[in-house]
Amino acid sequence: MISFKQLLSNCVIPSSVRGIFRNSSTLSYVQRIKLLQAAKDDDSKCSEMMERGLFLPFLNKRPLINIQSEDLAGKQMNSMEHGSQKLRWITFSELQSLCPWEDVASRAVLLHIADSGQACFTAALPGGADVAAQAETALASKFVDPRAALFLLPWAQAHTMSHAFAVLHWKAVTNFCPNCGVELRSRTAGHAKRCPSCETVQYPVTPPVGITMVTDTAQTRALLVRQGRHPPGMYSCVAGFLEPGETIESCVRREVAEEVGLDVHQIRYAGSQHWPFDGSSLMVGCYALTDHTELEVDRSELEDARWFSASELLDAYQRIQRDLGLRLRRENTGVLWIPPRGTIAHRLIKSWLAERGLLS
Ligand SMILES: [Zn+2]
Repeated sequence: MISFKQLLSNCVIPSSVRGIFRNSSTLSYVQRIKLLQAAKDDDSKCSEMMERGLFLPFLNKRPLINIQSEDLAGKQMNSMEHGSQKLRWITFSELQSLCPWEDVASRAVLLHIADSGQACFTAALPGGADVAAQAETALASKFVDPRAALFLLPWAQAHTMSHAFAVLHWKAVTNFCPNCGVELRSRTAGHAKRCPSCETVQYPVTPPVGITMVTDTAQTRALLVRQGRHPPGMYSCVAGFLEPGETIESCVRREVAEEVGLDVHQIRYAGSQHWPFDGSSLMVGCYALTDHTELEVDRSELEDARWFSASELLDAYQRIQRDLGLRLRRENTGVLWIPPRGTIAHRLIKSWLAERGLLS
C-alpha cells in the first residue's frame, strides 16, 4: 500500500482534488472518484500512474482468475463454491514481461482507483497459446470463460470483471469516427477515443434492458420464458432492450405484451446488473403483476413461456444451487432450472421465493 505522501508526489493532482485529501491510510470513495477523474483528464499523469498500477489481464476475452484447477469443465467447476475464486491482478512489470515486444500501455484501460490509491487497469494480452501457457504458469492462475467467472467470483469482483470485459470489447471494436470516418485516437486511460479531424469524442455506451419477473396478482404463480439460445431446461425472466422514448416501466410493459400477450401493472424496480455479453447492457430488474394468465407466446422470439407455481420454482432454484453443471450440459434432460447465481434473474427469483417465506 502506498502512503498519501507517495500518492501525492507520484501524481500531479489538480488543486481542487488535492484539497480533499486528509491524513489517512486509505482513500474515501469521493477521493478515489476524484483521482480517477484526474487520471482520465491528464494523459501524462495517467501514464505515470500506469507504471505503478495493477492490471487485470484478459486473453482471448478470458479474464485471469486465481485458480489452480486444471479443468474448469463439468464436475470440477460444479464443485467450486460461488464466490470462491478471485481475480488475478498483476503489476506493470509483470505485464511487460508477458509481452515484451508490445506497447502494453496501448492495450490498457483504466477501471478504478483502489482504496490504497493505486490505479487499477485491465489489459488485453495478445492472443496465442504460448502467451496463455506462459502467463498461467508464471502466475499460477487460469484464463477462464467469463460466464463461468461471473459465478465463481464474489459479486463485487464479478462486477469488476464485467466492467473490464465491456471496456476492452469497446476499445477493440471502436476504431473509426462515426461522424467523419477518420481513425480515432485513444486517450491514455483508454476510456474514450477522440477524432483528430472533427474533434468529437467517443465513449462506451451501455444500453438498458428491462428484465421482469411477472406474477399473478395473488403472487402464487410466476411466468418464466425460454429462448432458443438458452441451455436445455433453463427458464428465465422476460427481457428486452429499451427503445428510444421509453421509460423502464413502458419498456417492461411493451416487452411482456409483445412476447407473451399479457398486460402488466404495478411495475416495481428491484435492482440492476451490468451484463458484459452481447454488446454490453445494463440489466434493470423489475417485478410486475398481471390480472390475466392466458398466454399468447411470440414464437419468433421465444421457444416457450409457462406459468410456474412457487413450489416448482423452489425446486428449479434448488436444482441449479446443487448442480451448477446444468449450465454446461447440452442434452435436454427435461428438468427445469433457472439462471445460476451471479445473474440478476437468479436474484429476482430468489428474492421472490424469500418473500413467499420459502427461502430464508
Ligand atoms: Zn471525426
